[in-house]
Amino acid sequence: MTKTNVLLVGSGGREHAIAWKLSQSPLLNQLFIAPGNAGTSGVGTNVAISGNDFESVKQFVLQNQVDLVVVGPEEPLVRGIHDYFLNDEQLKGIPVIGPQKAGAELEGSKDFAKQFMIRHGIPTGAYQTFTRDTLLEGLSFLQTLNAPYVLKADGLAAGKGVVICKTIEEAEAELTDMLANQKFGKASERVVIEEFLDGIELSAFAVTNGREYLVLPEAKDYKRIGEGDTGPNTGGMGSISPVPFADKEFMQKVEDRVIRPTVEGLQKDGIPYQGFLFFGLMNVKGNPFVIEYNVRLGDPETESVLPRIKTDLLEIFLATVRGGLSEIKLETDIRTAACVMIVSGGYPGDYTKGKAISGLETVNKSLVFHAGTSYADGNIISAGGRVIAVTSLADDMIKAIAQSLESASQIKFENSYFRNDIGKDLL
Ligand code: AMP
Repeated sequence: MTKTNVLLVGSGGREHAIAWKLSQSPLLNQLFIAPGNAGTSGVGTNVAISGNDFESVKQFVLQNQVDLVVVGPEEPLVRGIHDYFLNDEQLKGIPVIGPQKAGAELEGSKDFAKQFMIRHGIPTGAYQTFTRDTLLEGLSFLQTLNAPYVLKADGLAAGKGVVICKTIEEAEAELTDMLANQKFGKASERVVIEEFLDGIELSAFAVTNGREYLVLPEAKDYKRIGEGDTGPNTGGMGSISPVPFADKEFMQKVEDRVIRPTVEGLQKDGIPYQGFLFFGLMNVKGNPFVIEYNVRLGDPETESVLPRIKTDLLEIFLATVRGGLSEIKLETDIRTAACVMIVSGGYPGDYTKGKAISGLETVNKSLVFHAGTSYADGNIISAGGRVIAVTSLADDMIKAIAQSLESASQIKFENSYFRNDIGKDLL
């Protein structure tokens, strides 16, 4: 049997985790990561190409006989990397994991996602969308709601486009800022005002080819920078999988009310979809509501979800593109995975990069995924806000968390920081 050459697009902890998992597959020939980081170079070959540079991706794919492209982050998808492949004579036979532009709108436009959910009866908070021209209506609509108020910039705003306001005055000022002053640029040309959902959040995942789907383990992530979930939002400070309150009954509701209707809704709307679906959910009194869709895996959820999957990830990808996904019986590790993210001091505000990282080789009881690293003079240095994700698997959550915290404290660079309370709310 011929083995597969894979090009993975991305450079974060999610991509290191995907690369690590793919590298274990007996079906893999060569694994390339564009552009990757210092961690991915240990499990594959980094190539200095940005995933948004489609022309360079094309040259590389053709020159290196790439058989399958896996797209980690949302940006190349929303920009249409999959459509680019399908519209190119030489590339159209090379499958891409990650939806085309039309499907990526589930993440690229909050208004599109809300309309989709309403159209297909998928549980989500009530909402209305406003533009600069309908700002006055938007301000009146706020008066009809109770605090707190949820305002969402329609487009991609690097995870910062959602603002929750405690008072009506705050909400009015924020709506005006987003619409009249374009606070988030083009992303806030339209703003979704949404009913506040009171509950506990979790993330569910599936991989689909538009006809079949496979549900992956769920996870809970920790978005705020400070302990006790305080301070500004970040890309994610840690994650736990499985989530104790997401029992069999709850996850069945998620599949029946959210995952299957989403896949069927895409079919009904004639939107092709090949790739991951990420469901940001709120558990409101035992019932799942969708807060958001993402069209890729989450980071750092991936770093706790993939270590719990025993099934070959490349086999899953090949079944996605060739068919047979529904026949795969996902094998999972019943242990708990706890991921703790080590970040640069100051993040998500200003921070400095280029700090030498030590202690990586001393960690032997946890998995170490690089989130933002590179090489300088043979040393591994920090190259982003989120730097290293440490994941431990253990029979119970307490042990998994303790192990990750111990391993995280062994990894050192100037002004590093991590939260000591990941998962504590679930104990
Ligand atoms: P999003 O970028 O849509 O995931 O939103 C960021 C965060 O805002 C979510 O993780 C939630 O904590 C919160 N959030 C978003 N929508 C709602 C809502 N309708 N009710 C309560 N919290 C929300």
